[in-house]
Amino acid sequence: MAMVYPYEKGDGKNKKLLGGKGAGLCEMTRMGLPVPPGFVITTEVCKEYYRASKKLPRSLMREVMAGIAHLEKKTGRTWGSAERPLLVSVRSGAAVSMPGMMDTILNLGINDKTVEGLAREAGGRFAWDSYRRFVQLFGKVVFDIDDSEFDAVLEAAKKKQRVAQDSELDEASLRCVVDGYMRTYKRHGKQFPSEPRKQLELATRAVFESWSGERAVVYRKMNKIGPETADGTAVNVVVMAFGNMGEDSATGVVFTRNPGDGARGLFGDYLINAQGEDVVAGVRTPRPIQEMEKTMPGPYKELLRTCQKLEKHYREPQDIEFTVERGKFYMLQTRRAKMNAAASVRTSVEMVKENMINKKQAITRLDADQLEQLLHDTIDARAAKSADRLASGIAASPGAASGMATFDVKKAIRLGEAGKPVILVREETKPEDVPAFFASKGVLTSRGGKTSHAAVVARGMGMPCIVGCASLHITEKGASGSARIREGETITVDGSTGAVYRGAVPTIRPRMTKDFQTLLGWAAKVKKLGVRANADTPEMAERARGYGAEGIGLCRTERMFNDADRIEPFRDMIMAKDAAERKRILAKLERLQRRDFAKIFSVMHGKRVTVRLLDPPLHEFLPSPGESGSRVNKALQKRARELAETNPMMGHRGVRVGITYPEIYKMQIRAVLEAAADCTAKKIEVRPQIMVPQVGTASELERVRAMYDEARREVEARRGTRLSVNFGTMMETVRACVTAGELASSAEFFSFGTNDLTQAVFSFSREDAEAKFLTEYLEGGVLARNPFQTIDSSGVGELVRAGTAAGKKAKNMEIGICGEHGGDPDSVAFFHSAGLDYVSASPYRIPTAIVAAAQAALA
Ligand code: PEP
Ligand code: MG
Repeated sequence: MAMVYPYEKGDGKNKKLLGGKGAGLCEMTRMGLPVPPGFVITTEVCKEYYRASKKLPRSLMREVMAGIAHLEKKTGRTWGSAERPLLVSVRSGAAVSMPGMMDTILNLGINDKTVEGLAREAGGRFAWDSYRRFVQLFGKVVFDIDDSEFDAVLEAAKKKQRVAQDSELDEASLRCVVDGYMRTYKRHGKQFPSEPRKQLELATRAVFESWSGERAVVYRKMNKIGPETADGTAVNVVVMAFGNMGEDSATGVVFTRNPGDGARGLFGDYLINAQGEDVVAGVRTPRPIQEMEKTMPGPYKELLRTCQKLEKHYREPQDIEFTVERGKFYMLQTRRAKMNAAASVRTSVEMVKENMINKKQAITRLDADQLEQLLHDTIDARAAKSADRLASGIAASPGAASGMATFDVKKAIRLGEAGKPVILVREETKPEDVPAFFASKGVLTSRGGKTSHAAVVARGMGMPCIVGCASLHITEKGASGSARIREGETITVDGSTGAVYRGAVPTIRPRMTKDFQTLLGWAAKVKKLGVRANADTPEMAERARGYGAEGIGLCRTERMFNDADRIEPFRDMIMAKDAAERKRILAKLERLQRRDFAKIFSVMHGKRVTVRLLDPPLHEFLPSPGESGSRVNKALQKRARELAETNPMMGHRGVRVGITYPEIYKMQIRAVLEAAADCTAKKIEVRPQIMVPQVGTASELERVRAMYDEARREVEARRGTRLSVNFGTMMETVRACVTAGELASSAEFFSFGTNDLTQAVFSFSREDAEAKFLTEYLEGGVLARNPFQTIDSSGVGELVRAGTAAGKKAKNMEIGICGEHGGDPDSVAFFHSAGLDYVSASPYRIPTAIVAAAQAALA
């Protein structure tokens, strides 16, 4: 295979081989757009370079020089000549865009001889300025000489000539600067290669090296760019177009639509008489692109025409770079514009209206994951740049909020109820802390991962949350460690990035636009999977319905005991001396739950609502055994000690509590049935489902089924009505999945609890894994994805497939999933392919799940 492709010959679709930049330049060349002549050295050569222990393939330079000869022919210029010399830029460009992460060298080909030719064409000052820029960039990129050493030479020259700006240096000074730079090379034991071929060889090698430079490696890691999407960079060798040849030259960067809100029309800046690096260096402030219409009407018209052509061609807004050299317009790059969620949604809908794409394309082009941005307050990115960043943790629930750091749960409730903005800061949170969540604007913990208690609760409530902020040492009094945070001090948490800031960083409030609703409507029509919500309160149910939820797939009833007026009777129930006392207290709780259920059923009228019986171990509702303070009396402490377990996640929880304390499950089952009867009496159509957690054996399920059957007979007879209720089980133990056929005989539906199932399959604690080792696993590539976030399709996923197949074989039953994976696009695609009926996700992930389900159906 060829190692070098001239732009006329390269396949513009093949980004993997030619890199994004190279493919774009080939495509534009073929479209007849004004691209300077050039060629690409393929990503395969880069891979070969690394395979061969950093040696360039032997015949590479021969092919490259053939490419140069081709450029000579196209431009009428001569490589290394004092007459009309050919100068090129050498630019990196991987398959996936990694802006600014790899190296680029401009003005290559200049030496003591060619600079004279350039001087004759464009003036001595210009020529020597180009020379010194090249020597500097080359020294930095190829020989790793620090910029500051070159800057010192430049500064000395400015001082000597008594000028303030680089642009004021005259030719004589610039000649001295070049001399000074050459001495800098020598000091480093390096020799500037005056031979252009050698320059090109070294520059190519340096671009390949920058692929494995620290910046690029970190960027790939952060953006999850693995070798399957991009492996190695291509190198573009392009004839120089000079934006700095005078007042009729310019350089600019433009988006064809506004990447912040999607509005039509050019968005960007340009700079007259400048090279790209001047824009980056920020020495001069670029001007808004619209001004170019007046200053350079001809090139501006060409820019507009080019942008329109590119959008039509790619059917995507573009992000482009151009240069104007003495009034002649050149395109240097085009790539798909990166946009925020609001802009993506708006452009999807508008491009359909403009007949540029169809509705299917409008859905498939979206990044479903990003859509949650549209429902939360976001941090003002510009303000964040200058904000004082204190620490960063795991971004567990998106959105941003500012408030008073509050370390004590009771205090948080008190302040929150008094209308103060509170950020709850804890080492970790427990179910009894949930009232403080309701009183807070955001949550920050130093322990825990993405499926820890704090993360799951906050996500369900749509509140920003950062967990696993391990650099902070958090107590009930304050935080120390990487930063000190005092009680009451204002901080801002950005749950979308995991950043914690001092003070109040401004945020931006979102709204559900008409375009967003339109798009969700299109997606809902094509998807096959149902999309339900994990919602525990009428407010959450209402919100989820508004976002398009088709039912509630998981109502975690333990969350209902977290209100201040419920935790007390619940604790009393746990403390009860005997069954009789427990029953009396349960009657009170039953009234409360019945009212809650009736409210949720009414909000979701006509749609399925899956109520899960109590799941966590009882001791979680008591203070931790070591905890002291006025709210903890001796008896409570004693009981907490009795109930405490070494490994509560695998302990006395879920159905095991239901069997050993049957009165609790009986109470909850009755509350659901009575609430359903109450709604039916009011002519509200309700379709509740009762779901049992943590089931591992058919006999466990049968026990609870017997409670359910008896209660149902009793309530139906007493209320004189037939209820439309289903009984089913969570599938969250390994045993449940491998014996699904047996469980099916007592269940009318299954719902996979992929949080616990992942924990069980990996033997990773969902509370601790991320903070302790999982992050390192992911960074080191031991695991490609976080299995608590994206379903592990070959392990956990196989159990889901097997359980689904056995369940469906046993009977015609509905099967869904309600773990956190229900809101993750890649996992949704998996569940679609595994033949599930629905996914259930937290309310704010509903649009993401709807679009992901549609994308899976269209794939
Ligand atoms: C699960 O385990 O996936 C689940 C939905 O239940 P929870 O997160 O409440 O344990
Ligand atoms: Mg579970």
